[in-house]
Amino acid sequence: TLHMVKVFPIRLELPTPEAAHTFGQRLAALLRAGDLLILTGDLGAGKTTFTKGIGAGLQVRGEVTSPTFIIARVHPSLVGGPALVHADAYRLGSIDEIDDLDLEMTLAEAVTVVEWGAGLAEGLADDRLEIDIVRTLGDVSSVEDTDVRQVVVRPIGKRWLDTPWHTLT
Ligand code: ADP
Ligand code: MG
Repeated sequence: TLHMVKVFPIRLELPTPEAAHTFGQRLAALLRAGDLLILTGDLGAGKTTFTKGIGAGLQVRGEVTSPTFIIARVHPSLVGGPALVHADAYRLGSIDEIDDLDLEMTLAEAVTVVEWGAGLAEGLADDRLEIDIVRTLGDVSSVEDTDVRQVVVRPIGKRWLDTPWHTLT
């Protein structure tokens, strides 16, 4: 639309799970209450690993785990900052179901991270970060998961115009 502001996407390489976690932690320092993050990426891409980093960065209570069977989990802040609402939209038919959940807070009070939210969660906020994590083939002869992840962060809306993205690297 006319008022849509698009900031250039940020692209990073995440060679290890630790890098994915650190990326979440650094991004958390740039986030505030009301922010919405929509995560896309295949199973095992690292969406939850990255969200654990956000939880660590925000200093919230409770272990961040895959919310697959509970749709959404609220992690209150331990330090008076925004809570983390961690949702999994995989089995949701519509985003109204997230709005309908009794989270005992409004999304304006939390940083909301929605796994599998693409095509569903955009309606929750005009300003948002759309984050895609893509797995690219690592050492095929290794039994370990050596695949590198490429992450693309697409900031949408004027909320992100003055964000110091350089702190992510
Ligand atoms: P998702 O939530 O996208 O399904 P998870 O974060 O639950 O993914 O799982 C990712 C798995 O892949 C974890 O077991 C993690 O240790 C492993 N992994 C290996 N390399 C990476 C990497 N570069 N980035 C993130 N996770 C990685
Ligand atoms: Mg997950």
